[in-house]
Amino acid sequence: MTLFLVVPAAGVGSRMKADRPKQYLLLQGRPLMAHTLSRLHDAFPEAVLVLCLDHEDDRFDASMVPFARWQRVRGGETRAESVRAGLASVAEQAAPDDLVLVHDVARPCVQVEDLHRLHAAAGEHADGALLAAPVADTMKRADDCGGVLRTESRAHLFHALTPQGFRYDLLCQALDAARAGGVEVTDEASAIEALGRSPRLVPGRRDNIKVTHPEDLALAGALLALPGGD
Ligand code: C5P
Repeated sequence: MTLFLVVPAAGVGSRMKADRPKQYLLLQGRPLMAHTLSRLHDAFPEAVLVLCLDHEDDRFDASMVPFARWQRVRGGETRAESVRAGLASVAEQAAPDDLVLVHDVARPCVQVEDLHRLHAAAGEHADGALLAAPVADTMKRADDCGGVLRTESRAHLFHALTPQGFRYDLLCQALDAARAGGVEVTDEASAIEALGRSPRLVPGRRDNIKVTHPEDLALAGALLALPGGD
């Protein structure tokens, strides 16, 4: 069986307020994307990488890709569309039961052990699996004016992280159905859930952060500098 790694990296990262898309910001002298791809390669050196990039991306450099088997795909308007394009690009190579792991390019601190556990769980569960971390803070729901409307129970609440892993045919079916039904999905698991299925929550490390806001960059840099980091 072939393992496919789909990495959506076609976003502009406007919340970073930086001079370039966040995947090209430097961490320890290397673009964030290079760190993320290195971590994935450390865990799955034999996998096929599908990298979804904006069609106007002129910063990408193939030297950031450590994989022997990989391809560049034109991303879409949304993350889900980018992932759909990535899946379509391997339609000829992929068997229905092949596993696909989707990982945000903006999560460079993911650890090899979490990657392996997620991969194993995605293979074991028919509805797939995602890395997830239990919510630690007290959760407040805001009213329209920035005041607290109420406190939400945090029992059973998780942050959905990536990777998220599913069988190729199930993921294609779920994303196609979400698109046809106008269901907005910000991760792959949501599309699977919309089919009435229940992906497995795999406890993942809380330091698998998604670099989103300016202050996240220093945090990611510090995490990568820890022993065992890059
Ligand atoms: O914006 P956000 O951080 O939620 O994006 C999550 C991931 O989806 C990022 O890796 C981003 O590059 C990717 N993305 C994409 N195509 C889009 C929008 C986002 O590949 N049109």
